[in-house]
Amino acid sequence: MDVRLSKMTTFEAKNALEEVKVGIIPIGSTEQHGRNMTLETDLRLAEEVAKLISEKMRPDLIVLPSIPVGISYHHMNFPGSMTISPATLQLVIVDYIKSMQRHGLNSFILLNGHGGNQPTLSSVVNVIRYEFKVKISSLLYLNLISNETRNQVTSERYGHACEMETSIGLFLDPTTVRESELEAGELKEYPIQFTEHERGNRRVEMPYFWEELSSNGAFGDATKASREFGYQMIEEVLNNLEIFIKDFINYKV
Ligand SMILES: [Zn+2]
Repeated sequence: MDVRLSKMTTFEAKNALEEVKVGIIPIGSTEQHGRNMTLETDLRLAEEVAKLISEKMRPDLIVLPSIPVGISYHHMNFPGSMTISPATLQLVIVDYIKSMQRHGLNSFILLNGHGGNQPTLSSVVNVIRYEFKVKISSLLYLNLISNETRNQVTSERYGHACEMETSIGLFLDPTTVRESELEAGELKEYPIQFTEHERGNRRVEMPYFWEELSSNGAFGDATKASREFGYQMIEEVLNNLEIFIKDFINYKV
C-alpha cells in the first residue's frame, strides 16, 4: 500500500487511518535554483523525504497532500518563481488540519523543504498547537544533517542550488538536476555588514532579493555535487527523523 493519502481510495484511507499516528505534510516552494535545478526542487525533495520516512516507519505515518508553493518573495525577480503570503500559508495549513481532524487524525508534522518558509511555520505551529489542541511540529529536514557531515561542504556560502542541495537532488529525484549545466554560484558581497547568512549564522535580519547575493541564483558550488553525498545526508536525516518521530508519537499533549 502506498503511504500517500492521495494514492488511496476512500476505503483504503479509512483502513490506513485506523493505524496511522501522524500525518506528514510536505511543504515546498516553486522558485528559481539557477541553472542547476528545477523550480520544484524544494517541493520534490520534501515529498521524497516524507515518503521514505513513512515507508520506513510503516504503518505509523501517512503522507498528506503537499503544499507546492511557499514564501519566496526574495526569488521573484527570477522567471517562473512564485510566492504565497505567510497569511495564505497559515490558512492552508489550518484547513488541511481541520480536514484531517474530521477523520480522527490529531497529530501532524510539517516537513519543510524551503528555508524561506521557516519563520512562518514557526508561528503557525504555535498557533495550531495552542488554539486547536493538536500535536504538531515543523522542521526543515536539512537541519537534521550533522555538523560533521556539513563540514564536508567547503564553500563558505551554501544552502541554495549548491553542492548540498544538488547532491540531495541527485539521490532523491535526479529530474530536479540539470547535470550538464551545473555551475558554481556567482556570489556578491552582502550589501550591509552583520547581515551575512553564512554557515548558518546571521546576526541581523535583513531581507535581500536573491540577485543581490548571487547573480546566477545559486550559492556554493554545484559542480562538486555527488549522489553519494546526497545518500549520506538523507540516511542521516531519516535516522534522526525516526528517532524524533518515535518520541513525538509517545509524547502526550
Ligand atoms: Zn531549494
